[in-house]
Amino acid sequence: MKKKKVANMLFTNYILLFVFSTIIFIVVSLIISVSFKGLLKYEEIPELSAALVIKDDYRNIDYSKILKYKGGIQVIDKNYNVVFSRGINPQNVTQYTKGEFSEFLINSGKSQRKYHYSVAYNSNSDYWVEIVIPRKPQLVNGVFFDKDGIPIAIDNILFILFLGALINITSFVFGLIFYSRITSNNFVKPLKKLLRGVTKIAAGDYSARVELKSKNEFGDLKDAFNLMAQKIESEKNLKEKSQDNRRKLILDISHDLKTPLSNIIGYSDLLLTNKYISIDDREKFLSVISNNGTRANSLIGDLFELSKMGSPDFKLKLKSIDICEYLRELIASIIPQIEKAGFDSYFEIPIGKKVILIDEKQIDRALLNILNNALKYNPPGTQIKIVLKNFLSKVVIEIEDNGIGIAIEMSEEIFEPFKRVDSARNSQTGGTGLGLAITKTIIEKHNGQISLETETGKGCKFTIELNS
Ligand code: ADP
Repeated sequence: MKKKKVANMLFTNYILLFVFSTIIFIVVSLIISVSFKGLLKYEEIPELSAALVIKDDYRNIDYSKILKYKGGIQVIDKNYNVVFSRGINPQNVTQYTKGEFSEFLINSGKSQRKYHYSVAYNSNSDYWVEIVIPRKPQLVNGVFFDKDGIPIAIDNILFILFLGALINITSFVFGLIFYSRITSNNFVKPLKKLLRGVTKIAAGDYSARVELKSKNEFGDLKDAFNLMAQKIESEKNLKEKSQDNRRKLILDISHDLKTPLSNIIGYSDLLLTNKYISIDDREKFLSVISNNGTRANSLIGDLFELSKMGSPDFKLKLKSIDICEYLRELIASIIPQIEKAGFDSYFEIPIGKKVILIDEKQIDRALLNILNNALKYNPPGTQIKIVLKNFLSKVVIEIEDNGIGIAIEMSEEIFEPFKRVDSARNSQTGGTGLGLAITKTIIEKHNGQISLETETGKGCKFTIELNS
């Protein structure tokens, strides 16, 4: 998407200001002209006739009207000298020859573009009067009409200047108000929204998000803000979840330790306080004490392992190992157990070598957890299948059984500490609920991955991926 810049926005606003001011200018002009019921009028210049103004003594001629219409008057005596001149003199001549004057007289009679000439001769005093008036209508007086249609004479130039200035200032002021309004809207609105978001975050509401349509720098700021809020929120959730997990772990540990310890205390008390217990009962009680001691011990041992691996100081003792050979040896070591449990087995290990870096002791632990579980939780006759698949950059180990399986919805959470399908049954089988959590931690410490495909009654298939 194309980014809009604040500069572009300001430019657009400026254009809007210009358009707005122009509209106001036109509207104000119309209002003024309509309210005055009239417009500036050009006065049509009358064609003043020299014959009408001429006097025997040219000094008595009233030439005020001529000057009013920006014209001129020249008096030429019998020797063709210009003896009197007022106003304009387009000929720019102070003395004519006879020929020039006759030519002027002929031309003045013709219609001319710029000036209207009128010449008259006074035979008593033997002189000519030449009147020249510009043809263009003159803005001599601004003529306005009031509401009753009576003309009001106003000094034209001053009035036009005043009116122009008034309209311009008005339109500029209105335009400026309009401009500052939309500009501040463009600035203040997003800032206010962002501020509202920041205030919410500061008050601890991490779900706060800012909605802005702007695609300019404010839009970028909004995106950055929302990303930050999202990160803070997810980190807070993660922290809360890990606190919950820790709390749950402590609860689970105390619960799981409580049963064997209570049994140990109960049976030891019984043995200590009751002197007349038969040898058979004594042996039974002692074996209960021993079993519960072992159970508590393995729980503490597993917990110790798990927390050791969870610590940042924990380091794997990695060695280059041929994983094919390693698996063959591991299988050989558990075959007697498999046979003893009455299980079927199937193994598929590629011939050849595939060297990868592993901590042998830890991987032993991870894989044996899975294999022992298969033997522990499934009835005789179950088949255990171990397959090694060799890829270019990784190896995949599949450990599968066709036993009782686990509910499909537990296939992920079964890797969490203390997750068990049936705690009562597991207490009998001696499971701590930590085996698969330890396995997962070991595999992840190797930068590998583990997943479980399972369904109740359909067995379990663990898939482990290790990088080579
Ligand atoms: P535990 O110490 O209880 O064995 P794990 O984490 O090793 O703990 O296993 C978690 C639970 O998963 C077990 O309690 C058991 O209910 C179930 N489980 C694990 N492996 C299998 C399997 N192969 N078949 C059936 N259930 C299994």
